[in-house]
Amino acid sequence: MAALTPMMAQYMEVKNQYKDCILFYRLGDFYEMFFDDALTASRELEITLTGRDCGQEERAPMCGVPYHACDIYLNKLIEKGYKVAICEQMEDPKLAKGIVKREVIRIVTPGTNMSQAILDETRNNYLMCIFGCNDEYGVAVCDITTGEFRSCHISSTSKLYDEINKYSPTEIIGNEVFLSCGLNFDYMKEKMKITISEAPSHYFNDDTCEDFIKRQFKVGSIDGLGIDEQEDMLLSAGALLQYLHETQKNSLDHINRIDIYSIEDFMIIDSSSRRNLELTETLRDKQKRGSLLWVLDKTKTAMGARMLRNMIEQPLIHKDDIEARLDAITELNDSVITRDELREYMNTIYDLERLMTRISLRTANPRDLLAFKTSIQLLPFIIQLLGEFHSDELTEIRDGIDDLQDLYDLLDRAIVDEPPILIREGGIFKDGYLEDIDTLKNATTDGKNWIAELEAREKEKTGIKNLKIKFNKVFGYYFDVTNSYKSLVPDYFIRKQTLANSERYTTEELDRLAGVILGSSDKLVALEYNTYVELRDTLAAELTRVQRTAHSIAMLDALCSLSYVAVANGYVRPEINTDGVIDIKDGRHPVVEKMLNNDMFITNDTYLNNHESRISIITGPNMAGKSTYMRQTALIVLMAQVGSFVPAASANIGICDRIFTRVGASDDLASGQSTFMVEMSEVANILRNATKNSLLILDEIGRGTSTYDGLAIAWAVVEYISNSELLGAKTLFATHYHELTELEGKLSAVNNYCIAVKEDGDDIVFLRKIVKGGADRSYGIQVAKLAGVPDVVIARANEICNQLIDKDITTKLKEIKVTNDFKPKKEDTQMSMFGSLAESQVIEDIKCVDLSNMTPMKALLYLNELQERLK
Ligand code: ATP
Repeated sequence: MAALTPMMAQYMEVKNQYKDCILFYRLGDFYEMFFDDALTASRELEITLTGRDCGQEERAPMCGVPYHACDIYLNKLIEKGYKVAICEQMEDPKLAKGIVKREVIRIVTPGTNMSQAILDETRNNYLMCIFGCNDEYGVAVCDITTGEFRSCHISSTSKLYDEINKYSPTEIIGNEVFLSCGLNFDYMKEKMKITISEAPSHYFNDDTCEDFIKRQFKVGSIDGLGIDEQEDMLLSAGALLQYLHETQKNSLDHINRIDIYSIEDFMIIDSSSRRNLELTETLRDKQKRGSLLWVLDKTKTAMGARMLRNMIEQPLIHKDDIEARLDAITELNDSVITRDELREYMNTIYDLERLMTRISLRTANPRDLLAFKTSIQLLPFIIQLLGEFHSDELTEIRDGIDDLQDLYDLLDRAIVDEPPILIREGGIFKDGYLEDIDTLKNATTDGKNWIAELEAREKEKTGIKNLKIKFNKVFGYYFDVTNSYKSLVPDYFIRKQTLANSERYTTEELDRLAGVILGSSDKLVALEYNTYVELRDTLAAELTRVQRTAHSIAMLDALCSLSYVAVANGYVRPEINTDGVIDIKDGRHPVVEKMLNNDMFITNDTYLNNHESRISIITGPNMAGKSTYMRQTALIVLMAQVGSFVPAASANIGICDRIFTRVGASDDLASGQSTFMVEMSEVANILRNATKNSLLILDEIGRGTSTYDGLAIAWAVVEYISNSELLGAKTLFATHYHELTELEGKLSAVNNYCIAVKEDGDDIVFLRKIVKGGADRSYGIQVAKLAGVPDVVIARANEICNQLIDKDITTKLKEIKVTNDFKPKKEDTQMSMFGSLAESQVIEDIKCVDLSNMTPMKALLYLNELQERLK
């Protein structure tokens, strides 16, 4: 095979080091892509595919993007989940001897992308690293745009999936074990839009990880960080740092704090409940409008919006923490004028967190510094206003805000009011900031006058009436003489160029002046550049002060938003208890009430406790409002634990450790599960992971199978939950199996409720009011009629229904004795969501095997048997 051309050989050498990336190879004014990269990029970016001679028989497929507009193309590839390595020319091609030296200066990946153009400023852009070992995981997560870095230990694959859902990262890297843990990676890639890749195994080395952590967080030992308790946390955090350094090739000073947390420190919300409750986006359209966040988010800054989203994603479980937020909101509600003044001032604050990151990474341009200046201008007034408040949270916020006026003064003296984006073209600094800059600036302006004077003088001297001094980039300054005046040109004019209609000349004096002028403007640009870099370094040194201020502003903004929404929507402060009582009077659904016209929403009470009112069986017609009612209870509890006021006349909320919801039916065909299988998997997850302190919202359990199977499952589930020794969680259970109302009286914790309707001839009127007692009909056929099902079908359905009504089943159910006897006959085995029943059985058998009574031979034979079973 013929040898590659030298340039192609260089390309291949670089490409081989970055096989999983598309390589942007700088060639003059373009980034070129070759071979498979070119095929992929031309397809994804819809750009023309050409070819280039590469020394071999066939030309190499090639396509390119202009370097000055490369961001648009880069972002498109990143959004589609690709990684891009940017390979730059490391020397001036004019000066290079031989092939220009080139190096990869940065790798852009979905999780390390910093582009303002594609990042949503109201949400974090998380990159996650997962180290798995024996169904346990170390998780590290970082938002490189803000410097947030967190790590935790997770003890099962299903909890890991919940944590992934909580953060919705754009990229995950992990070790081999993680990548074979059984999670549905296709689903995560395609539906959740996560780029997932395996990290090199050398990342997961104890010593290297420890080293990286010590260096990044500037600690002598990792003992104090709390990360040493679980080796997997150490490995995931260390590997994540290595990946960041490898891709950014930058110091990343802004990532300077590691937050070690336990998932038990926050309310646990599993992934399906998170979706069902529509916390940050709607179930169907994945839109913010229609979600809880949509109602609560009236923040003024991008940082505040991100903070509020995080607060909703992870409600608190410690009473004092919740009360602290509620105290702050109470104070803000009591002084709405001051609060609104604060909100107005915050309106002027740009994304200080991300601006500071850009300053720290030395990528901030002069316009960023202007935005930074504007953002800190009103901080003294914010601090002053916060002096009016005394709650712990607001006092802490005030203490966290530095007025940064030294930086404001500096920037105010330095940067002009309309600075350029580029830093290599001058025009950045105000007059009076630096004497040398002023002198050079004067030379440039004076130069213009010198030229004008020379032009007038020579015109006079030579008698050439239209003599002009002109300038262009190639020839610099020159006298322009049209052909009609050629005869008047004096001897000391030196010809530079002849054109069709004119001649271009210079003189010694013009050359001298041009030298001074051009020299000073080059010097000015260079001096402005150096001064700018120095100024940016000065700001970068104040990283911690600014980060702390930005964090405090974010919290203030989020709390002001909650306060604003509370007053605007008539929310009340919930009482918080640890006795397990949930007592809501006149509760409303925060989102549904917004969607309906004012006052159209019918309020309802909820009462649950850990004793005789643990389970409410809710019956009622289709469309009556059962789901709305149950979700509203869950959302009110969740809002209270976020520290927000709640939509009710009064609310006393017992802290819940978890909220589970099983709502509606959804196929998960992507994961190969049928509707009923999804439903039962969710039920299994709930029954296994809920505790006494959990709140369960169960909507229509057992609907996806035959009536008898479904009813039997629903009945058994209620019996199991109501048993306080087994579970005893507070539960709202909506069902169309009216037969379940039989359980009231049989099980002490169960109470029947129904949503009232009024019959009006053949039609029904929805009253939306929850009352004690059970419904005996679902009015499904009436609802079908309302929905427009043809009359003939409705008539026929009525006919069939009358024949079917089977009083016998209720009689039979009355005869069923409830049971408390749920003791497992042998260790209860869960059919793993991530493996087959046979596999789970093998695991259980291994657990039970008595090794001390086995000879090595027997053990070997047994091992063989297990292997056969797995095959
Ligand atoms: P199904 O059994 O068919 O699932 P459902 O009883 O769960 O029905 P929902 O879906 O909760 O009924 O409510 C149907 C519609 O009724 C809601 O979309 C909402 O517009 C309206 N609605 C529900 N509750 C109320 C209320 N308290 N006040 C006013 N409108 C309500």
